[in-house]
Amino acid sequence: DFTTPDPVALHARLRPDALACLDLATGKKWTYAALDADIERAVVVLRAKGVTEGDRVAVLARNSGWQVVMQQALIRMGGIFVPLNWRLSEPEIDILLADCAPRHLYRDLTDFAEAVELAVPGSRCTPRSQSETCTILYTSGTSGTPKGAMLSASCLLATAVNFGVLGEVDSNSVFLCDTPIFHVIGLVTQIWPALLRGGTCLISPGFDPELTNTRLADPALRVTHYFCVPQMAEGLRHARNFAPDRWALKALFTGGAPNPAAHIHWWLDRGVPMVDGYGMTECGTILGMPLSARIVREKAGAVGLPGPLTRVRLVDEEGREVPQGTEGEVLVHGPNVIRGYWNREDSALGADGWLRTGDVGRADTDGYITIVDRRKDMFISGGENVYPVEVESVMAAHPAIREVAVIGVPDSRWGEVGRAFVVLVPGQAISENELAQHCEASLARYKIPKTFVTVDALPRTASGKVMKHILRDEFLTA
Ligand code: ATP
Ligand code: MG
Repeated sequence: DFTTPDPVALHARLRPDALACLDLATGKKWTYAALDADIERAVVVLRAKGVTEGDRVAVLARNSGWQVVMQQALIRMGGIFVPLNWRLSEPEIDILLADCAPRHLYRDLTDFAEAVELAVPGSRCTPRSQSETCTILYTSGTSGTPKGAMLSASCLLATAVNFGVLGEVDSNSVFLCDTPIFHVIGLVTQIWPALLRGGTCLISPGFDPELTNTRLADPALRVTHYFCVPQMAEGLRHARNFAPDRWALKALFTGGAPNPAAHIHWWLDRGVPMVDGYGMTECGTILGMPLSARIVREKAGAVGLPGPLTRVRLVDEEGREVPQGTEGEVLVHGPNVIRGYWNREDSALGADGWLRTGDVGRADTDGYITIVDRRKDMFISGGENVYPVEVESVMAAHPAIREVAVIGVPDSRWGEVGRAFVVLVPGQAISENELAQHCEASLARYKIPKTFVTVDALPRTASGKVMKHILRDEFLTA
């Protein structure tokens, strides 16, 4: 059997001395040859721990290059890698551990690293079927309890191709990965595209606005690809040492949550192509904007075009495709899409094999899609549909507003009305009246929130998304 088990094994032969991975916390470097060798040794270590085919191995730790080694080793031996969100509380983690029932849980990776360095490689594993589940990634839990998306190597490779093409990834690409590996943006849309194309992954233990600014401006690191959630991009530009003119980025990629057009323009005005894209744990990368600043400016607010391996449709409640310009639920089909969730009967896919995302989108005349909102977050005021994301985008353009979230709350007269939660830029003050006036300039009356509440922070998931069910519950039980 001459099959190459995976891209790392192939690059170990094509370009053995190229840098595959650098762990920024420890300075540990892996060329492709070294990464391939450590993966083989890690197989020995995991087998010695009793891990066999189909077993889950969970990790509850900050980002580390060793997680890359572990995932690839588990894939080669037929195990299942389960990176967990270490920011969750113990009871929340217990729920996930009970769900995935791992053979082994690593709470830190020092023991693993030491064991791998000492291990003597055995004979190479026989290549596996790429359609088996090799990784369970839990969804962000934005709308409720996280679900374990069962990803196969085919799904991961398909996203690597989708993002690789849309994001112009090649062997010279250097990703700075400081979004969590337990989240789709860290593992699936950065590490995998980099490794597929023989590029480099700089793995950082976590996001730190000043440190990330330093790294983006470091000529020795030469970061070309940085992918974060919009809230992290906000953190970057408010940092003391923000100097985008020193960056070597091809693009600043965002995804995972709505990115207001006003913010995208702000970055473009400073010479940084901010490229939004759309994806989810269940599918990895679905849509992405081209890296052209001209198109990004013209289409600011859109999340782009489908990756080459993926089909996208927008449908109404009856499943019929909607006319161009009309809102419809986003349906996705392709090798990047999972078949199901771990331990759950309900398939992720409809009978027709298409995944219903629960997100509402709209396409323009050129086929660029805009994500309007999550279906569940829409509310109806006086018989009219209101998509909070649209209201938030308008409010986010106000210079005194740092963050904003809008929810629908019950109202005796209108059925539901908007309630806005606003985090102000430090030192700024703004009256409810001024906020309403700002909205009136761009929004129909029924969309304008009836109340504006100033808060210190919004409840967010580890990946920076606002958990609106918490805001709704707090309002209803107050
Ligand atoms: P859960 O499924 O547990 O409620 P989640 O949906 O937030 O959590 P993820 O898979 O991390 O979990 O996120 C995918 C979702 O994020 C998408 O379904 C969509 O609602 C949102 N999203 C992703 N990219 C964008 C984007 N560019 N603009 C707006 N929303 C986005
Ligand atoms: Mg989801």
